[in-house]
Amino acid sequence: MVRPGSLGAVVILAGLLLSTPLIAATRVSKQPFGKTPEGTAIDLYELADGTVEARIMTYGATLVSLKVPDRTGKPGDIVLGYDSAENYIANSPYFGAIVGRYANRIAHGQFQLDGRTYSLPKNDGENSLHGGTRGFDKVLWSAHAIENGVEFTCLSKDGDQGYPGNLKVTVRYTLVGNALRIEYSATTDKDTVVNLSNHSYFNLAGEGSGDILQERLEIHASRFTPVDSTLIPTGALEAVAGTPFDFRTFHAIGERINDKDEQLVRGKGYDHNWVLDRKSASGLVEAARVQDPASGRTLRVLTTQPGLQFYSGNFLDGSIVGKGGHVYAHRSGFCLETQHFPDSPHHANFPSTVLRPGERYHSITVFEFGTTEGK
Ligand code: BGC
Repeated sequence: MVRPGSLGAVVILAGLLLSTPLIAATRVSKQPFGKTPEGTAIDLYELADGTVEARIMTYGATLVSLKVPDRTGKPGDIVLGYDSAENYIANSPYFGAIVGRYANRIAHGQFQLDGRTYSLPKNDGENSLHGGTRGFDKVLWSAHAIENGVEFTCLSKDGDQGYPGNLKVTVRYTLVGNALRIEYSATTDKDTVVNLSNHSYFNLAGEGSGDILQERLEIHASRFTPVDSTLIPTGALEAVAGTPFDFRTFHAIGERINDKDEQLVRGKGYDHNWVLDRKSASGLVEAARVQDPASGRTLRVLTTQPGLQFYSGNFLDGSIVGKGGHVYAHRSGFCLETQHFPDSPHHANFPSTVLRPGERYHSITVFEFGTTEGK
């Protein structure tokens, strides 16, 4: 029985709790999400903080869905993908996956390190793309829940996809407030190269809602790395001023995408690395912002990395039927992949991607969501 005195105390305590703004903790839960062709279970982790909800699966440590509210408060899933793991395994252009060991391309599928030549699978014409035929997007990662998120680990063995060294990789996704944070780290027991990223295709109006050409983008970069006809950087760091690559102020993605610019023709649109303007080589800085006039949703990308691959979904051609039967047409999603520059092992003037025993690869990228009023 509750005595009158203690009832008073309970009432006061309840009042205090109600009036004190609580920092909502992120709920982390796990559910089964199908099986690999070998019959191993795939898990799906759900991170929910009351406003944003992210779901990430162990296959590819892939961000499967990301629900954020629009300006009216209505939630929508803003990343392209599938409803089942089986579809990701059968055919995915890296939807939401962690890409590695080397995000983007390495020319001619080979590189030299310490006087030795290493050969990689050529899975993009003559080049090696996103770590090879079985990159990190196709690995079943180990996972466990952590505070506000989930930690994925994998061991990529010495010689995996041609890369040297046993590479231990950890990727942590955490959701705090309106921000999804991805923290990458890796160590090796032999000299090697590493470049890790996340390959989410965003559509701030909601996946399956059409193309992303009206969405407005700003990238804090005065230079980009132009490419040859196979999308390998020429090695130049070219000024964006006076070109369709100048996103130092907001521009609709579609505004200049069909300009007769040689770089846009080579990329079939935007598919380039921007050299982020940074005051120092380390530290988390804002790299890009995106605004969707239709839904009012906004995205801010912060990173410790030197580069940002802006890919305007040029290879999407309507042949993929994604979540809820949505057809993913040309340019119906964009990627903002924080990274070291593509093909760095062949360019001594690019920041180094070499990782040696005793060192720790470490990078952080944050995707922060919000809304704007009006159009
Ligand atoms: C690359 C594109 C490639 C895409 C794969 C991007 O990171 O820059 O050229 O087609 O990944 O879906």
